[in-house]
Amino acid sequence: MAGLDNVTLIRGRHVLTFGPKGAIADGAVAIRGDRIADAGDYRALRDKYADAVVEGGENAIVLPGFVNAHTHFSEALLTGMCENMTLFEWGAKLLAPTAPHLTREVAKVGTILRCAELFSTGVTSVNDMFCHACYGEGASLGVVDGLEEAGMSGVVSFGAEDSGPDGKSNAPRDAIVEEHKALCERAKAAKNVSFRLGIGTVLGQSDALFETSVALARENGWGVHTHLAETREEKILARQRWGRTTVERADDCELLDLDVVAGHGIWLDDSETVLLASKGTKIVYNPVANMILADGICDLQRLRGAGVRLALGTDGAASNDSQNMLEAIKFGSLLQKVHAFDPSVVEAEEMLLMAAGNGAMVLGLGAERGSLEVGKRADVVVFSGEWPGTAIVHNPFQQIVNGASPRDISDVWAGGIRKLNDGKLVGIDLPGVIEKARSLASIIAKKSNLRDFSCLA
Ligand SMILES: [Zn+2]
Repeated sequence: MAGLDNVTLIRGRHVLTFGPKGAIADGAVAIRGDRIADAGDYRALRDKYADAVVEGGENAIVLPGFVNAHTHFSEALLTGMCENMTLFEWGAKLLAPTAPHLTREVAKVGTILRCAELFSTGVTSVNDMFCHACYGEGASLGVVDGLEEAGMSGVVSFGAEDSGPDGKSNAPRDAIVEEHKALCERAKAAKNVSFRLGIGTVLGQSDALFETSVALARENGWGVHTHLAETREEKILARQRWGRTTVERADDCELLDLDVVAGHGIWLDDSETVLLASKGTKIVYNPVANMILADGICDLQRLRGAGVRLALGTDGAASNDSQNMLEAIKFGSLLQKVHAFDPSVVEAEEMLLMAAGNGAMVLGLGAERGSLEVGKRADVVVFSGEWPGTAIVHNPFQQIVNGASPRDISDVWAGGIRKLNDGKLVGIDLPGVIEKARSLASIIAKKSNLRDFSCLA
């Protein structure tokens, strides 16, 4: 039949659509171009698309691509340091010294390196916030350069800050505003990249910049990407500065009336939780980074009960030491069980829904991504079943959340383009990227004087 010869059928013993068709036993997804053309029983689709190439396999598990809903490619080359520091110490001793040295080239190379890791752990869309103090160069635009070269779709933002908790401005506001605008234009010129206005943290902006940021987002109809309620220190310092918490301050300044995606939501009292739910503020849970920095625990049960919309992220590579989304999914589940002393508090299917459909939804991409439905973007992940982690499958949801490692992921398509083929990255010169990344990481470490905790310097 005309027009059907370029269909690829991706077969699985379990096709977990996270859409109206639910979990299909011995099923398949048909992709054509960048879209999902069909989903259903494997044999019926094989008869319907007789000339189609068949991928996946009779023991595979097929899922929609994951959405990493909160990260920082600005930390892409800063992994494996400061494990014994709290967020504020880590920010002062690692991020602050390196922030002036994060150029557009660093952004591009770091983004490609971490996209390789993201594809290898099933991620096909990412929500980034690039934080730097290299004003004038437009360093954050390098993230779009990197996303395009890697073939990853994403949402980009510049995590602007111009002060410490005291509120005194120490950076040029005009240059920050110009970079938001330039990044927005760069994103518009790219395929599959969109823009949000970044507010690094509420405490990290002077009152003048915060007011400017909210006004810019409102006037331009931009969504916002920020952090809220990550640490107890944040709450104390905000009360000292304004007599209000950062959540209350964000509401006072009408930030919460906008489309806001915020990392963490850990230190929330009941009234703040209800406020975030009523405003439609989206919270991204970052369990691995929260554990490494000992921030605290985002109480999914309480937030979910209040109606807060939730997604899942890795957070930046410097507070996680990797971009392994499978770890975020597994640790995200385990941390909730321990926190509640209740193994039934969260189920594997819910964690995978958070990692796929919810991530797409909170970023405003739910009509296009997050489930295997006809007409949606062909973002598909295959766990082959040919590696021990998924060789024995009684319950596919539980086996992926608790048993799978990146070696179990054999194939990934992003927008119908093969990014992982039988475990090998496609379209990324990984040895070349690693060589560049090592060199740049060493230069940043030396310029930033990180000798105390870096063997590179
Ligand atoms: Zn973050």
